[in-house]
Formats: sequence, C-alpha cells, structure tokens
Amino acid sequence: DRSPNPSPDFLRVRGARVHNLRDLDVDLPHRALVVVTGVSGSGKSSLVHATVHAEAQRRHLQPLSAFTRQLVGGSLRPDVDSVTGVCASVAVGQARAATNPRSTVGTATDVHDYLRSLFAVLGSCDGSAGTPEMTARAFSFNSPAHACPACEGLGTALRGDPALVLDSPSRSLREGVLRPWRDRRAAVEHELSLRFAESLGADPDLPWSSLEAGVRHRLLYERGAELRAELTIRGRTTVRDTRFVGVLPWLEACLRDASGEAARARATAFMGVSTCPDCRGGRLSPAQLSVRVAGQGIADVCRMEITEALAWADDLAAAAAGDPRAALGAAEVRDRLDDLVRVGVGYLTLDRPVPTLSGGEAQRVRLATHLGMGVFGLMYVFDEPSTGLHPRDTGRLLDALRSLRDQGNSVLVVEHDLDVIAAADWVVEVGPGPGVHGGRLVHAGPVAGLAAAEGSVTAPYLSAPGGAGTALRGEEDGAWRFAEFTGAEGNNLRSVSVRFPLGAMTCVTGVSGSGKSSLVAHVLEPALAAAAGRDDRPAPRCASVSGLAGVTGLVAVGQAPIGRTPRSNAATYMGVFDRLRKMFAATPEAAEAGLGAGDFSFNNAGGRCAACEGAGVVQVEMFFLPDVELPCETCGGARFSEAPLRPRVRGLNIAEVLGLTAERAAEVFSDVKGVGAPLRALVDVGLGYLLLGQSATTLSGGEAQRLKLARELAGDAVPGTAYLLDEPTHGLHAADVARLNSVLRRLVDRGGTVVAVTHHPAVMAAADWIVELGEEGGAGGGKVVAQGVPARVAGQDTHTGRVLARWV
Ligand code: ADP
Ligand code: ADP
Ligand code: ZN
Ligand code: ZN
Repeated sequence: DRSPNPSPDFLRVRGARVHNLRDLDVDLPHRALVVVTGVSGSGKSSLVHATVHAEAQRRHLQPLSAFTRQLVGGSLRPDVDSVTGVCASVAVGQARAATNPRSTVGTATDVHDYLRSLFAVLGSCDGSAGTPEMTARAFSFNSPAHACPACEGLGTALRGDPALVLDSPSRSLREGVLRPWRDRRAAVEHELSLRFAESLGADPDLPWSSLEAGVRHRLLYERGAELRAELTIRGRTTVRDTRFVGVLPWLEACLRDASGEAARARATAFMGVSTCPDCRGGRLSPAQLSVRVAGQGIADVCRMEITEALAWADDLAAAAAGDPRAALGAAEVRDRLDDLVRVGVGYLTLDRPVPTLSGGEAQRVRLATHLGMGVFGLMYVFDEPSTGLHPRDTGRLLDALRSLRDQGNSVLVVEHDLDVIAAADWVVEVGPGPGVHGGRLVHAGPVAGLAAAEGSVTAPYLSAPGGAGTALRGEEDGAWRFAEFTGAEGNNLRSVSVRFPLGAMTCVTGVSGSGKSSLVAHVLEPALAAAAGRDDRPAPRCASVSGLAGVTGLVAVGQAPIGRTPRSNAATYMGVFDRLRKMFAATPEAAEAGLGAGDFSFNNAGGRCAACEGAGVVQVEMFFLPDVELPCETCGGARFSEAPLRPRVRGLNIAEVLGLTAERAAEVFSDVKGVGAPLRALVDVGLGYLLLGQSATTLSGGEAQRLKLARELAGDAVPGTAYLLDEPTHGLHAADVARLNSVLRRLVDRGGTVVAVTHHPAVMAAADWIVELGEEGGAGGGKVVAQGVPARVAGQDTHTGRVLARWV
C-alpha cells in the first residue's frame, strides 16, 4: 500500500500474524460503524485489540522519551507487516472502571460538574442550616470542607445487617441463629451469647422468635455488658469476668481490627452498606444540602432515576428561557442526561457508585460520556457493548453508536448480537473456526455480501435468526417439582413471587435494570446455598422459600475472573497440571537430573526461570500509561530454567506441553487418567482453542465462565446440584450458543438444575422455563411480568414475550 494520502478513507491492515491470525489483510472504512464478528476464539480480539488498537497506541507513544520508546516500542509492535491510515484510538472496553466508591455515574460522566455549576449559579436556600457557600467547588463531596463530616463524603456506612446475621427464626441461639458465631473462630462468642441469654433469664434452646424482644435486641445491639460466665471451650471449663458485645457491634469491631482480606471478608459478609444517617446519602454538609434549584437539592437530583432528573432539567431549561446563563447551564445538564437515557441506562441514578455497575452498564455509561464530549477524528473500540442489554434496547444502543460515527469518528465494535451485525455499515467476519481453525478473513464489506462469503458461520443466523426448526417448549412437564419463593426483595424488587422447576433449565430475563441480578444475588443464590447445606451466605431476602429439599449442591458460575495472576491457567484450573508434572518427573531423564514433580512447576523456585519467577513476562511500570507486560528476556516466555526443559513426554518438553491447545492436548493425552477427560470437557464447552498454559488473566468473562462449566462437566455428576449462571453467552457467537445450550442440557440430564440470567433469544428458546422481570428498569421494574414455559411467555405482551414470538 503506497498511497501517499495522509487522511485515507480506510484503515488498512496487511499481514497480521498476532496470536492465531494467518497473515490477515483487511480494510476498515473510517467514519463508519464497523462490526467484527466470528466464533469465540476466531481471532477478533487479536485483530481489533492486539493489532489495530495496539498499533494506534504504540504510535501515540511517540512523544515518550527515546529510552521508553526503545524499551516498550519494540515489544509492543504487533506482528504485522503494515497498518496504514491509523488514527488515535480509544478502547471503551468491558473492564470495570474504578473501584473507587467516590466515583459515581454523575462524577464519571461529568454531569455532576455541570450540576454543581448550575447550583452555584441558580441555587437558593432557606438559611436554616447555616450559610452555604455558592461556588461550584462547594457542591463537591470530594471537597473536605463541604463534604458531610460524618461519612467524609462517602454517603454510606458499613453496618452489621440483622437480615444477613439472622438465620431462620425457628432456630435457637444454641443452634446458631446468629450466623457469624457459627464460625469455629467465634466459638467463644457463641458460648458467651448462651451465657448472656441465660443471665437475662432466657432459654438459649428456644427458637429465636420466642425470645423476648428486649433479649433479642440486646443479643444484636448490646455495646458491652458485664458478664461473669462459666465457659466451656473445646472441653475446657473456666470462669471469667468479661463483657458481652452484641453481634452487630461485634462485627463492626471485627472489621475495624481485621488484619487481612479474609478477615475483612468474613465480617463484611454479614454487613450491609447503609445510608449515612447524617446526610442521608447526600454526601454534603447540611448547609450545601439545603440549597435548592427548582425545588430540589443537588442530592435529591442525584438520587432520582436519570429519566426523572432529565424531566427536572427539561422544566428548568424551559423556565430559564429568559436568563441566558441559566438556560445554558440547564441545557448542558439536560443534554448530558439525555445521552445517558439514549444509551439505555435511564434507570440508573447519578449517585450510583461506578463499582456497582455491571460491565455492560459501565461501557454504556462511558459511551454516553464520549457522546457528550463531541470529539471527532478518533477511532472508538467497543467490546460487546450489547452485553446485558435486552433486545428491546438494542435499537437505542445502535442510535448512540451511529451518533458517535456521525460526529466524525470511526466506530469499531466486536459484537455477536445479530441486530447489531445487521445494522453495521461494514461487517468483518474472522474465522471460520476457533484458534488454529480460524485467523483468516471470511468477509469484509457491507452486510449484504455476507451471504455469499464462503465459510461464514454468521450468514445462516442472519437469514433465519431462530435457526431451523427451533420449537419452543409448549407444556409443563408433569414430573417437575417447583422451587417457590414469595415476598422476594432487594434493590427494586417489589415483594415478588417466583417459581421455577428443579431438574430443568430456567432463564431469568427482563430489560436491563429490571431486577434480575437482584433476584439472583439476594434471593435465589442464598436460598440455594442454604438448601445445599452451606451457612456462609446471608439469609435470602424473601418471606418464604419452599421446594428446595432436593437441592444438594450449588455452583455459582459467574463472570468473576479465574485467577488474578499469570500463574493460573486452564491446566492448573482443570487440575491436569499436577498429573502432567508427575509424568515428567517419572521420566528417566528427570530421575537422572534429580528433578521432582515440583521442578516442573513455574510456581516453585526449583525449576522456574529466576528472572521472571515463572511468569514468563515482566511488568514494566510506565509513568503515564497503564503498566506494560513484556516477555521475559531470560527464558523468552518459556517460564522455566534450562534443566526442566530437557525431559520429554510423548516428544514434548513441559513448555511445549503448556503451549498446546486444549484440543490438541486432549488427543496427545487422551488415554491418561485425570487428564484426557478434563481436556475433552474444555473442548465440549468450546474452549478447545485455549492454550494450556495461557494465563487466566487473558480470558474474557465469558471464557472464564465456560472454563468453570468445563470443570463441572469433568467432575463426577452430583444429581441435585443447582447451577447459577450470569450472562453465559458473553463472548459467544450465535454458532457457539448452540454448543452452550447442549452443555447446559447435559447438566440437566445429569440431574442438575440450571438457572441462567440471560437475554439471549436462542438460550431462552432452549430453556424449560422463563421468569421475566419488568416491565421496565429501576423503579418501573421489580415485578414478575411473565413466567412459564417458553411458548406460554411467547404469547404474552411483554418485552421478552415479543422477542420470543419472533422465534416461533
Ligand atoms: P476472539 O476475540 O475471536 O474470541 P482471540 O483473538 O481472543 O479470539 O483469540 C484468538 C486465538 O488466539 C485463540 O486461539 C486464543 O487462545 C489465542 N490467544 C488469545 N490471546 C492470547 C495470548 N495472550 N497469548 C497467546 N494466545 C492467545
Ligand atoms: P438487572 O440485573 O435486571 O439489570 P439489577 O438487579 O442489577 O437489574 O438492578 C435492579 C435495580 O436495582 C436497578 O434500578 C439498579 O439500578 C438497582 N441496583 C442494582 N444494584 C444496585 C446497587 N449495588 N446499589 C444500588 N442500586 C442497585
Ligand atoms: Zn454523611
Ligand atoms: Zn523468564
């Protein structure tokens, strides 16, 4: 490509060889909505992130010092012949943003800055709470002088939560109705609580509910009562003068004194974030909170759902028409709020902490921020922005992406959603298969051309989204037993009743913000955990639970990453690495060199590369860029020192084994007990393309989740196990979803119960039962709007009903 044109209409990639890419050439038009698709593992991220975005980033290292450039530049250069027509690129990825609780939807999107200016200009106050300062800074809860002194601007306090602490009220003290004191480490506290109750004349063997209210209150809240008690701990009896502290203040003291993460977690498991009693969550000093604009304080506006705040700002803009400065301020706030509604997060509130947002929500909030900035000439890179979005809202997301394009930006989206693919200006399919079976260009061009592209796995799904012959289940199975919940609460749930069949597969669906995660996290998961005999979870937040008698185990397969260090990988996670190391240790070469199984591990000092301590990479801290990982120079990424690399098993050394794909390794070690079966399970869940030694930190949320499923499949079937899944289709192409469905069906066939939070039409269609929450998100949601077999829900006039109706 010798075109001298400095601002070409295409970004051109030639000869990309990153990861599995096979000398891939592709042209991507600028100022267009480009969607990159292909099966999981086909090479989409390798093209979009590791080649195009990485190259754009690298070019923007140019202002760095020559030394830094030399250090990082070479290693960051993707393996590609050329990339031309690159512009500055911004990745609006899935990564959860700040974990800082001070970052809120309002502050992260700059709406809060505009609001503060507005309050400084237009605010009026009744004066009873002191004299407020009227500058924009004075409305910032990050300003110590103006923040609520009690919570220092956090708006919250961590408190022991009676609902989490108490087990069923039919349990007695001795039976452990106070859950934190069932822990072996709290044996003394448990024993003291029995003595304390006795000292008050109460019987520790009576059900909690029949103790006097005053006794119950002191067991929970007592701040320190003198107590002389005979204590029997591990068979030894002593008399002690001591003080009894109720379980709630005790938890708060534990948290204060906690020395490590584990101790903190033990305490916080029973604690809830409650609103700061002084500012009632407003985060500001009383004087600042008393300032009003159009009848509302700044904290009131931040507590409203964004759609409501938008209506307030609209009214304000209309009322301020005569005052140009006020009108401008109001219009700015209104436009920013409007961007948030447009991307489909109008049910959130401005004071919602960013760390509590889901990955998809965080990405859409960031999209709104960029819409508001009005920049142009950039390339935006998105990673499945439709994640967690109900199909009803895909149209809005597309409008927002198109606005970004129309402002003069290039929009590059990795996506599987068929509606998004169909709406793209330009579709790229990488494939046709995963890993070594992929890495080639299947199609690049307008979507219409996809049908004629040889090997396209996307085309058949675009022409018949339902897939041929998919019939929705139409009748209840008479053999099902049902789990039933009444009075379920948590976040926006409005005392709902739900039921779902055991030994079957249920989808919990509903538009974003309708309350699905709340139902799972606060009700289903704790109830299933309790039924499975675990007592480390809070009590479910509902009035009654029944029908869970058959549940003997719970596996919650969420999106949480598998391991935070590059040392965990598919082989260690599936438990095959230990077996493989023993095979290496059993070779004559190993015996001769005196190498044991431990020397074939990169987690032990013995055999690992000393320079990188077995990580294969070294972290380089950069001054104003995120840390960079560079391959270790000493071992070249092999992770081992020289001696452990000499012994061979089936012709391969240990580093080469770790470099095999799971699929290939399953063939090489098919006959090895404890190795073949787990590796075949990886292939079954569609992860055959993973390299055995590939660090778990490189896995997407969906891949991590499928890895956890694989471990379940590889294990012994335990009938009665309940599996809870959270958006399991994340990262899956329509063609992969069929495979996921059959994996889930296998769990059911083995006597399991599957409950998945998902909007994916093909997963819902394959389910036995649907629970739909809605009607809308936030305060407009929190109800069960439909439940039943899919065909029954398809007949209803609800958001999911309409989606399923398209399916039949
Ligand atoms: P997709 O985005 O289409 O799911 P990827 O581009 O992530 O696919 O992966 C393509 C192939 O490259 C897969 O075989 C994957 O295992 C491999 N791969 C991805 N990341 C890495 C990495 N950091 N190191 C080695 N191989 C990788
Ligand atoms: P879904 O899973 O259907 O998207 P959620 O259960 O996450 O819905 O949310 C239901 C409602 O509860 C929404 O209004 C949401 O903003 C609110 N919500 C969810 N999590 C939290 C939280 N950690 N703090 C405050 N509000 C929350
Ligand atoms: Zn406060
Ligand atoms: Zn090394």
